[in-house]
Amino acid sequence: MNTFQHIKPAGKAQFKDRYTTKAAELLTPWEEGKKGDIAIIGAPLSKPSISHSGASFAPDAIRRCLNSFTTYNIERGTDLAEDNKSIIDFGDITMHPTSIEESHQRIYESVKAATSTNAAPFTIILGGDHSITTSTVKAIKETKGTVGIIQFDAHHDLRNTGDGGPTNGTPFRRLLEGGHIQGEHLIQIGIRNYANAKAYHDYAIEQGVTVYTMKDVRQQNIIKLIQESLVQLESQVDTIYLSVDMDVLDQTYAPGCPAIGPGGMHPDTLREAVQATLKHPKVHTMDLVEIDPTLDIRDMTSRIAASLMMEALIK
Ligand code: CA
Repeated sequence: MNTFQHIKPAGKAQFKDRYTTKAAELLTPWEEGKKGDIAIIGAPLSKPSISHSGASFAPDAIRRCLNSFTTYNIERGTDLAEDNKSIIDFGDITMHPTSIEESHQRIYESVKAATSTNAAPFTIILGGDHSITTSTVKAIKETKGTVGIIQFDAHHDLRNTGDGGPTNGTPFRRLLEGGHIQGEHLIQIGIRNYANAKAYHDYAIEQGVTVYTMKDVRQQNIIKLIQESLVQLESQVDTIYLSVDMDVLDQTYAPGCPAIGPGGMHPDTLREAVQATLKHPKVHTMDLVEIDPTLDIRDMTSRIAASLMMEALIK
């Protein structure tokens, strides 16, 4: 009698239904020459956060949440596993223990290296806090050319760098000041009342940034708003980068964001907006940032991020 027949490797699921595939089973570690439908890379950095943040734990939490979903889409009648969809996982970038500048440099170099492999037509960077986006966009500019950005966020993230250096309040300011993007190529969606200083809204307008507030989101059709944004960018840039700060969501849905607040977006609106953006052939990259799993409740916020990641598989 085999007395080990009821023992399984540690960490494996307790129960396996023969007909069910979990989205996490689509993950496959990157190897030279391996190709997939999307690629992911973790940027677990939260030391530049203005407020307390454990966003460095988010890449693992988001990957783990793929175990919460099956691969079957009932509304489309499609199955990601049957369609042989795969997610190439580059793993996580090792951060410097104390130097934020060095960590930002490592993110830049690693994203540039990962996207240069052409392992997948679409890449998702799992933050980390929003400070990573300066490094990732710089990398994408070098691999894909002029970058246009659609940013979902409660905040402009255009703070001056004199007061705190390259914090998570500054990524788009640093991109503009460094000449890496033009103001006309940045579209911010979901900006909220009492979450920004007037000086930074004025700066956005001076720079030619397009700003849609939450009122605009509530009063306009989100698909139409996205389509107009894509038309605005498509003839001017080589690639479109989607930056999703999860704090664009209302605090009800995103307890894991360090900067939660009322008056934010519903997750279905964000999902529809992301779906509409992903359809465009010039959209090659997305980041998902500002989730602190240590603040989250039952991984609610990471679970939304994981579901947005799955949308990219049916791009
Ligand atoms: Ca932000």
